[in-house]
Amino acid sequence: MGTGKISAHRAPMLSVVVPCYNERDGVAELHRRVSAVCLEQGLPYEVVLVIDGATDGTREAIFELAEKDDHVVAIDLARNYGHQIALSAGLEFCRGQRILILDADLQDPPELLGAMMAKMDEGFDVVYGQRVKRDGESWFKLASASMFYRLLGRMVDVEIASDSGDFRLMSRRALDHLIAMPERYRFIRGMVSWIGLRQVAFPYERQRRFAGTTHYPLKKMVLLAVDAMTSFSIVPLRFASLLGMMFGLLGLVVLGYTLLEWSVGNVLPGWTSLAAIMLILGSVQLLVLGIFGEYLGRMYMETKRRPLYFVNEIVSRSQAAAEGQD
Ligand code: UDP
Ligand code: MG
Repeated sequence: MGTGKISAHRAPMLSVVVPCYNERDGVAELHRRVSAVCLEQGLPYEVVLVIDGATDGTREAIFELAEKDDHVVAIDLARNYGHQIALSAGLEFCRGQRILILDADLQDPPELLGAMMAKMDEGFDVVYGQRVKRDGESWFKLASASMFYRLLGRMVDVEIASDSGDFRLMSRRALDHLIAMPERYRFIRGMVSWIGLRQVAFPYERQRRFAGTTHYPLKKMVLLAVDAMTSFSIVPLRFASLLGMMFGLLGLVVLGYTLLEWSVGNVLPGWTSLAAIMLILGSVQLLVLGIFGEYLGRMYMETKRRPLYFVNEIVSRSQAAAEGQD
């Protein structure tokens, strides 16, 4: 084993962590398929299902699973905190030596666990899924995702694999490093890559959603993209100086041209061009202010140091039993 943290006398525990929003029609199937692959591994395991303020009966469905199955730990968050925070909550609660992150909609096939475990045995700390094919996603989602990763790749020093989501197998030591990062604006796939250690891509085909529809509409995708950019790069701030220089140069060129025309007796009538220049400059200034604002607002929110989330209730037969023994 490559992780070095697995003790010899006790079989290592496997944790599967799944953030669930409104996934009522998928959780039973999720539980069935995840349990099957975990049993195949022959290791002690737990399935941590984080209920992220669901409103469609997902909570009840998951509680029911937790009451029937010792392996299930249901964590009901106090409200909907969003995918990345819900995932962070699950990761903080899980106890495994190896941790698999899944989406509740079964877009990432749990059946790949065996192959990912084998890869980790080669000494990797993170085995991250990389989508080679995506079924049932719109061309717009594909195009925007690919553009986003390309742009991010240019701006950011750490390498963030394109076409990778949060589907990954992590070692306990990598997870402990991740948990040690307290920031509120979380782009987890980027944070994991930032940690370092030995990481390897694991190509797979992304499936269609088992049930329901995506919870990542355009607005949330854009917000996640802005989080990613601002958490990993200050290049947009430099953009301001760059634009300043560009427009300064442009001004000089225009001035030169005007003087030249003037020297041969042409006085250029100027108000249209003036108005255009003012509009452009005004909008550039506002844009730059907006970029500053993104960073400033995030600094403000981070300085409050609020907890990332609150838990409403945890339902787990195994944990209840453990507490009873104390
Ligand atoms: N999710 C969540 N909270 C949210 C939105 C989504 O926990 O506010 C979960 C959702 O249940 C799923 C995962 O995050 O397990 C990914 O969401 P989704 O499948 O909607 O995103 P997509 O695969 O379309 O990018
Ligand atoms: Mg999905």
